[in-house]
Amino acid sequence: MEGKLIIFSAPSGAGKTTIVKYLLGKHPDKISFSISASTRQAREGEVDGKDYYFISKEDFLHRIAKKEFIEFEEVYSGTFYGTLRSEVHRIWAMGKQVIFDIDVEGGLHLKRKFNERALAIFVQPPSLDVLAQRLRGRGTDSEEKLHERIVKAEKELAYAERFDVILQNDDLEKACLDAEKLLLDFLNES
Ligand code: 5GP
Repeated sequence: MEGKLIIFSAPSGAGKTTIVKYLLGKHPDKISFSISASTRQAREGEVDGKDYYFISKEDFLHRIAKKEFIEFEEVYSGTFYGTLRSEVHRIWAMGKQVIFDIDVEGGLHLKRKFNERALAIFVQPPSLDVLAQRLRGRGTDSEEKLHERIVKAEKELAYAERFDVILQNDDLEKACLDAEKLLLDFLNES
């Protein structure tokens, strides 16, 4: 059984995780979160099997070899993230549609693969400065990791035009409502 995919992509710190959580809270009957596999360390408060499937690099590479991923990437050097085929089918089997919080290349990859079954939304932060501030404020990364995230963000902003929709996030509350409308319109299409 094949359903739909709603993809939220953006540079780290643009607010996509908050938007995705808002939508999941409001429409738990319609959508479910695609839990990615990742080789990074869990942050404080993150739960294995809920935020990510935290797995070793060895396990990740083994799963690549077994073709278990629909898409995967070395998002940051030495750190892999990927969408498991089993995860997407698990959610469709529940009669729900799949919502993704995924990096820009991964998002475009899924869009190419699923075409009109997928709605690819790019979350546009107000500016690179604001993005850097948000990442610093989060206080979860070392200066070096932070720098890597900011450099990547700069590159990712150039990809916005390739998405189905650009969702402006200057005001988080408004962005959540706009995202909800996009979601419901897309789910109502046959
Ligand atoms: P974080 O470490 O902040 O949780 O995530 C880093 C980046 O990896 C974010 O942009 C996040 O959306 C992205 N990401 C999470 N899961 C996946 C995935 O399965 N595939 C890809 N390509 N990127 C992912």
